[in-house]
Amino acid sequence: MISNLSESVIESSTTPMTAVDAVTVPGVAASELWLTGIQRRDLATLVEASYPFEACGLLVGAADAEQINVHDVFRARNLNVERARDRFLLDPDDHMAADRSARARGLDIVGIWHSHPDHPARPSITDLEAAWEGFSYLIISTMASGANDFRSWRLQSGKFIEEKIRESQPIPSASEERS
Ligand SMILES: [Zn+2]
Repeated sequence: MISNLSESVIESSTTPMTAVDAVTVPGVAASELWLTGIQRRDLATLVEASYPFEACGLLVGAADAEQINVHDVFRARNLNVERARDRFLLDPDDHMAADRSARARGLDIVGIWHSHPDHPARPSITDLEAAWEGFSYLIISTMASGANDFRSWRLQSGKFIEEKIRESQPIPSASEERS
């Protein structure tokens, strides 16, 4: 659902108020989003295929307050067809499918990813209004030449705090993981 209020705001019009770049905010633990090189390449392929429209989807994995380990990247349909260049609206069916897949493996949806075609990988006002605490918001800036910047953000006390993106090794299968 998109409210009329958020419809009236241009998604790509970022203001300094919506996001804090520095992770060293007093009293706020810096978190890290761990992606494998393959996941990063998969995301680049997805956002480039959708360019100049926004692509979006979900990150499934395991997270605590400081570390978010992504096991799977899910693509979701963008239901916002009219504003697909600068808005996204995750298809609830795709959201539920990712949730079922996560739960079946003892995992959770840990974040949402989307692209910003021809704009920086910083959250917009619309992103801020739609965000929930406890999720990572991975934004991929995408130009005609390709995906060029990955940045991840978490909402804390009404502001986006940037988190570090780290490269993890491929996640072993569930049976190997228990050893
Ligand atoms: Zn956005």
